[in-house]
Amino acid sequence: VERLLTNRLPLPPRPRNRRPRHQDRLRSLEFNPGDLASVGCMVDSDGTCPECEHGLEQFCANATYTYNVPDKHLGGATYGGYSESIVVNQRFVLSVPSKLNLAGAAPLLCAGITTYSPMRHWGVTEGKNVGVVGLGGLGQMGVTFAHALGAHAAVFTTSPNKKEDALRLGADEVVVSRNAHEMQMHAGSFDFILDAVSADHDINACIDQLHRDGNITLVGAPEKPLPVSAFGRIMVRRSLSGSPIAGIAETQEMLDFCGQHRAAQVPETPRTCPERAGAEVRYPHFPRRNAQWWKPPA
Ligand SMILES: [Zn+2]
Repeated sequence: VERLLTNRLPLPPRPRNRRPRHQDRLRSLEFNPGDLASVGCMVDSDGTCPECEHGLEQFCANATYTYNVPDKHLGGATYGGYSESIVVNQRFVLSVPSKLNLAGAAPLLCAGITTYSPMRHWGVTEGKNVGVVGLGGLGQMGVTFAHALGAHAAVFTTSPNKKEDALRLGADEVVVSRNAHEMQMHAGSFDFILDAVSADHDINACIDQLHRDGNITLVGAPEKPLPVSAFGRIMVRRSLSGSPIAGIAETQEMLDFCGQHRAAQVPETPRTCPERAGAEVRYPHFPRRNAQWWKPPA
């Protein structure tokens, strides 16, 4: 097993009651010819509502997403990655740290920030016990970030054959969620759980893994509503929430974090997927050599 963590850098401070982060972003946005820039899931927002003023453009009612929403300026819909060119409000252009590999950095702008943001919001840091449920596209990002943020990272999976992959991605341990004994052994021990499963699953069994005041955040989106036991949450004040991407300032923070942090390096993962005959990749975001976030020094 290749251990990823070589050093841990201090996290950027996250002070409260500061000036709206969006204004910081406006001030700092300067690009020069040759700089690497990127655009994530949003290209515009009104910039004036309370959400925008708090740097939470992802919650702006007038946000324009990069794909498949009405284009306010040209009509029709935005085409995202299918576009030949893109027009974007300059507030939504992100800087790509030079140490990042472009191909590996691209998924950070969606799956990456979707898993990074709730971990930061719920205080995942060194010493915390973090669980990631499901080891698909979001889950692999989640376990990598949990590890990079210094937490003890556990992966919950129904597939024992994913254990080795989870460890390669940075998990400290793997819990087979179909094994009642293993689940019982870990019950009540987690500060935060990222639920990245988009299919029907036993959410109550996941909630039971949290200790007092723990939070479980849904980033996967099951098609059908999940039945949630009230007592599972009431008894030790556990909370259930969800989270989408993040605002521009936090997305830039995440890119910078990945650029600075060797622990964010993701090793090459298998390209074959025995569970889906014909499918080429198991972990679509990090399948290839040279597609990792960290670009090694030349
Ligand atoms: Zn707004």
